[in-house]
Amino acid sequence: MRIDLHAHSTASDGTRTPAQVVADAAAAGLDVVALTDHDTTAGWAEAAAAVPAAGVALVRGTEVSARSRGISIHLLSYLQDPSHPALVAELERTREARLHRAERIVELLARDHPITWQDVLDQSADAVVVGRPHVADALVARGVVPDRDAAFVELLRADGPYHVPHYAPDAPDAVAAVRAAGGVPVFAHPGADARGRVVPDEVFDELAEAGLAGIEVNHRDHSPAQRARLGAIADRLGLLVTGSSDYHGDGKQNRLGENLTEPRVLAAIEEQGTSEVVRP
Ligand code: AMP
Ligand code: ZN
Ligand code: FE
Ligand code: FE
Repeated sequence: MRIDLHAHSTASDGTRTPAQVVADAAAAGLDVVALTDHDTTAGWAEAAAAVPAAGVALVRGTEVSARSRGISIHLLSYLQDPSHPALVAELERTREARLHRAERIVELLARDHPITWQDVLDQSADAVVVGRPHVADALVARGVVPDRDAAFVELLRADGPYHVPHYAPDAPDAVAAVRAAGGVPVFAHPGADARGRVVPDEVFDELAEAGLAGIEVNHRDHSPAQRARLGAIADRLGLLVTGSSDYHGDGKQNRLGENLTEPRVLAAIEEQGTSEVVRP
């Protein structure tokens, strides 16, 4: 069983439609893929409709933005009730904040580079969530940088001159909101220290107390040292360990299936979650 529980579509900042992500999963030889767009469930229906033709099982999820000690973190929510009012309202609030924040980033960039808000809208036509990768695509389209990676390294990184943070719920509240919606919360890439600051060990204790189910230990942005650290934390707190690609289509190097999750871990997630896994 090849199980990859983290992928993005054009509903957020991936470059492939939800149906294409499911087809890509089949082409990559996966048995199970999770669609986890940032702060939205907008891609769920299209992805589920693609399951019979692709012959791949689908775990429906969301990558929820949150914040801990001023550090931006991501929480994967699996199999939640997508209509749960509190979580729906929280995601809506974050999407709204992301929109204003992206406009502000463009204002700052426009002082030094040829870019307009319309450029970003052109790059995010199918998206219900606007992120820095769309700003990156606009910069690429204008010839300012060659690709998304270069846009982040030179202009959009968290400690860069054009960075603007956005509202996101406090991490323990986000964990509790996911659980209240019947979702299974897994801390996404918590050791991605090349991207910026990562949270200290005691945050995992706080989140476990709030209902955290697992840690995404195996992710390409984790060094061997981070994997060892996170594996030990998961052991100590009795949390599930996942591994996933964080596929964004052509937008990033990440390839489907490059990291995998064990079947018994998926079984535990399915057991704890409210929504069904969509099977072919
Ligand atoms: P945002 O959610 O708008 O803050 O943007 C975060 C998204 O940008 C995530 O999907 C990341 O995968 C992507 N991202 C963050 N840092 C980098 C980086 N250094 N290079 C490429 N993509 C990045
Ligand atoms: Zn993303
Ligand atoms: Fe993430
Ligand atoms: Fe992601």
